[in-house]
Amino acid sequence: MVEAQGVHKLFGELHVLKGVDLTVQPGEVCVLLGPSGSGKSTLIRCINELEQISAGRLRVAGELMGLREGARGVLHRLSDQQIAAQRSRIGMVFQRFNLFPHMTALGNVMEAPRQVLRLSKAEAERDAREQLERVGLGDRAEHYPSQLSGGQQQRVAIARALAMRPELMLFDEPTSALDPELVGEVLSVMKSLAADGMTMIVVTHEIGFAREVADQVVFMDDGVIVERGTPAELIDNPQNQRTRDFFAKVL
Ligand code: ATP
Ligand code: MG
Repeated sequence: MVEAQGVHKLFGELHVLKGVDLTVQPGEVCVLLGPSGSGKSTLIRCINELEQISAGRLRVAGELMGLREGARGVLHRLSDQQIAAQRSRIGMVFQRFNLFPHMTALGNVMEAPRQVLRLSKAEAERDAREQLERVGLGDRAEHYPSQLSGGQQQRVAIARALAMRPELMLFDEPTSALDPELVGEVLSVMKSLAADGMTMIVVTHEIGFAREVADQVVFMDDGVIVERGTPAELIDNPQNQRTRDFFAKVL
């Protein structure tokens, strides 16, 4: 579902991704771990085309992201419209929920399907209610963000992403801004998504979630993937010294 080959990203002089190779199979949950500044968010943002990669290849569902291969292998940048179409197939959930404050939960979930997929109001509403049910908020559809807890707002953000029927979901520290007692409800929604077969890449410090849900755990440091494996391999029996040092600090 996701294939990164030799992905580099520079911000001016700053070399942030230094040749990342990553394969995520359909239905797989990949948890991305690593110290602050190692490039986790940048990688996620490149996959979602919020950032343009500097070198390498990125494929999602077999499609080259942001580029088209022309005659004699010459690469052309896609149009903004083509990039928007690629992006609409990928759901993204951030640390900050960024819901529209003047719209209800239902309104927030309906917005993109209405504007981007051009669904009718009735169709968008039916879908949105279904997605709110799925994240356990069927009875909060008419509430405004300010009337919802942080955990509920984040679940609305997940429902909003799901309403676009994404092939891939990206999560960047979805529980880091939440009070500890609200983390569990968001993780449990993510767990059920995983059980439904959603392909997911998750940046998180929740090692328990990684252990329980991840098929593949990837440890990044200084812009490269240092080590990868199953949770049992990577978390409980890391081979690389940098991975060991990381877990010695966080576990
Ligand atoms: P954290 O765990 O703190 O979220 P991270 O692994 O997600 O860290 P990134 O946010 O990907 O790390 O940042 C990697 C490096 O790239 C950092 O040095 C950061 O300052 C830099 N960086 C990220 N975005 C930009 C940007 N838009 N312009 C310039 N530098 C950036
Ligand atoms: Mg980050």
